[in-house]
Amino acid sequence: MNIRRDIINITIVYLMTILYVVFIQEIFGIAIFILVLYGVTITIYISIQQKLGEDKESTLGVVLQKLNQTKKENEETYKHFLSLSKTLGSGVFMVNDEGMITFSNKDIENYFDIDLNQKNYKEIVEVTPLYRFVDKAYLTEETLKNQIKYNERYYELISKPIFEKDIFTGSLILAHDITQLKTAEKFQKRFTADVSHELRTPLSAIKGFSEILNRDDEMKEEDKSEFISLIQKEADRMEIILSDLLVISKLDRIDYELELLPVNIKDIIEESITVLKSKINEKSLELNINVEDCTLAINKVKVTQVILNLIKNALNYTDEGYISISGKIDQKFYIITVSDSGIGIAKDKQDVIFKRFYRVDKARSRDTGGSGLGLSISKNVVLKHGGDISVESELNKGSVFTIKLPIEK
Ligand code: ADP
Repeated sequence: MNIRRDIINITIVYLMTILYVVFIQEIFGIAIFILVLYGVTITIYISIQQKLGEDKESTLGVVLQKLNQTKKENEETYKHFLSLSKTLGSGVFMVNDEGMITFSNKDIENYFDIDLNQKNYKEIVEVTPLYRFVDKAYLTEETLKNQIKYNERYYELISKPIFEKDIFTGSLILAHDITQLKTAEKFQKRFTADVSHELRTPLSAIKGFSEILNRDDEMKEEDKSEFISLIQKEADRMEIILSDLLVISKLDRIDYELELLPVNIKDIIEESITVLKSKINEKSLELNINVEDCTLAINKVKVTQVILNLIKNALNYTDEGYISISGKIDQKFYIITVSDSGIGIAKDKQDVIFKRFYRVDKARSRDTGGSGLGLSISKNVVLKHGGDISVESELNKGSVFTIKLPIEK
């Protein structure tokens, strides 16, 4: 190292001076030595000063460079955080250790219809459930999770405390809109309750009839066979409900996709009519058929089920008059209509009949062996084909059910 060499140099010069003074003792020589010594000392002093200056500059340079780098890194992280917060699809905001909201994204402001930026969190007291959560998160400095309801929507809130060297510097609050999830949860609970109710009714009937049969040894043969046929009817109803439920649970699966193959729709409509023709004749109803040929990419089994359901309904809810079935190409769609001159459906019921288990007249539906699931399954199937189903009806005049299926070219 240079400093060590300078020290050695200066020591040598000092030693030589001492030796010269001790052994030679000549004033002029001593003066020259002292001058040389002075010169060397000054040179070394200047070089040390220069080196110190250089070191200082380079150290300062390194510190400045590091600071710049950290600033750049921080800016990068902030930019990433900003773009993440914009595309997150959830609300996010930050409360610092003084309770000030230092950052908030658009989603959180839209959720609660409030401007949060640069406000103290105590100013959002009017958004009571959010305020309570933030207050708790800020005071406890803990990770918290809770679900709240605000303006008829549900949110899940999560708070994460931020610590720097064990010192609390604020909380990060996240809010997810979970309304859809909650609605699905509610729908599922309601559906489970409906299913149990629907199955309990025929089950109780079967239990009751079989108890009577068991108890009464002296029952007449004709009464016995009547009870047995009632038991059979209720068991059949249970079977229909269970098989419809199976169809629904399949259709509800997210990964369930219908296999679509080219089929002549006219064949499907005519096959469905053939299945029910004898029942239509039994009721002496007039049957009008006007169906055009057309090849559609559809699921044959499911579309047959839909058409059968509509014709069965027309038959069940029509006591006299006619049933008309038509199939026509209308530009990019194939339109199927099933019309009847039956009991009709009131205006306010025309939407709800497509809901699961909804029946206008429960007793009549039960008598005809309906599960109350037919139209909801039909709607699901038609929508899965990219089509649409609708009804036009007038009480005591009749109904027209229309299915629109896309024709893929
Ligand atoms: P259901 O098994 O009860 O027939 P659906 O889902 O097929 O179940 O139909 C739901 C309800 O819509 C029926 O209970 C009935 O009240 C009404 N409905 C359906 N089709 C007709 C129709 N053609 N005429 C009158 N009411 C109908």
